[in-house]
Amino acid sequence: GKGLAVLTSGGDSQGMNAAVRAVVRMGIYLGCKVYFIREGYQGMVDGGDNIQDANWASVSSIIHRGGTVIGSARCADFRKREGRLKAAYNLVNRGITNLVVIGGDGSLTGANLFRLEWSSLLDELAQNGKITPEQKQKYGVLHIAGMVGSIDNDFCGTDMTIGTDSALHRIIEAIDAIVSTAYSHQRTFIMEVMGRHCGYLPVVTGVISEADYVFCPESPPPYDWPEKLCNNYLAVVTALTSEADYVFIPEDPVPNDWQISLCEKLAQERSAGQRLNIIIVAEGAIDRDGKPITAEDVKKVVVEKLQQDTRITVLGHVQRGGNPSAFDRVLGCRMGAEAVLALMEATPDSVPCVVSLDGNQAIRVPLMECVERTKAVAQAMAEKNWELAVKLRGTS
Ligand code: ATP
Repeated sequence: GKGLAVLTSGGDSQGMNAAVRAVVRMGIYLGCKVYFIREGYQGMVDGGDNIQDANWASVSSIIHRGGTVIGSARCADFRKREGRLKAAYNLVNRGITNLVVIGGDGSLTGANLFRLEWSSLLDELAQNGKITPEQKQKYGVLHIAGMVGSIDNDFCGTDMTIGTDSALHRIIEAIDAIVSTAYSHQRTFIMEVMGRHCGYLPVVTGVISEADYVFCPESPPPYDWPEKLCNNYLAVVTALTSEADYVFIPEDPVPNDWQISLCEKLAQERSAGQRLNIIIVAEGAIDRDGKPITAEDVKKVVVEKLQQDTRITVLGHVQRGGNPSAFDRVLGCRMGAEAVLALMEATPDSVPCVVSLDGNQAIRVPLMECVERTKAVAQAMAEKNWELAVKLRGTS
């Protein structure tokens, strides 16, 4: 059977195990010889025990576990040709020419480079007598397929990355817990959620938690955000009940002045009577000059200008931990199976794909096109072109 290996790379996320399990079992079902590569690219470079035979039973009892049971790592060696040469040797030696990479855009960029370099790596190995001419001939093409595991939903080309749904569950559990105490004491809570460069978690959290204000990286607030923020509080009058304040989603970018319209809406809501306020700050929140806005910065403004009783909760790695949601388990299963099918159908000329979710369909999209689009968002943000950043992010 064909040699097939799976690895997880970059930050872990819930649902990666479901994807690993699906790759292993679909591979076995289709007659492949399947391997795990432990500790991401580091395991591929180091070889030895890091590359292990996988069988049907070796992926039993992992689908419900968070993180990745085969380990993940960042690997400096793989960024150098020398490291990739070692990795190629370790794969050829075991007859592996099909590789499933579960990671972020960096990991997929590395996989693509490895694939492009493959034949020259094999040439070098053959010249050095490390592999035979027959091996070089037989294993001459490397096929790769990618899947994105990330709680941030930070990849252009898929509706959801594996792990995002579980992270949102963790976040809303935490906010629900805080809301009752905030309500009792009329407090303001500032919640820092993950999202280094991507506003999906903070924005969706804002929508589903009835938050009052959201700081997200792609769409920084206006320069006068402290005044804008405080005006909302000054508008507080009475206490009645209230419903959601404002809805803005990445797929439907809001106008540039959304902060102002948000504030107007907030003022109405406060006068209709909210006993608590929730402000969501992405860990990567920035102002229009690209300077970080931290939860502490926001607290300082609220406390100094309004003397509000204000607390900060940083959710941190709790968001990345715990069991995967049903959605992420299903997503991992479907994507893993599709990735193996894509590899088995690949020809030497086919463009490598990343398996993604489009509506409710697992589809294959060109890997490097998506990576380029994801990098374009980062570029737009670096150039402070917020409109473009939101637009690129929104059209997955
Ligand atoms: P996350 O979104 O969790 O950060 P990521 O896959 O983007 O995931 P990176 O740290 O960028 O995380 O990449 C993971 C690993 O992939 C790196 O440690 C390195 O081994 C490999 N890698 C990334 N970029 C490249 C590249 N340009 N060339 C070769 N290898 C790369």
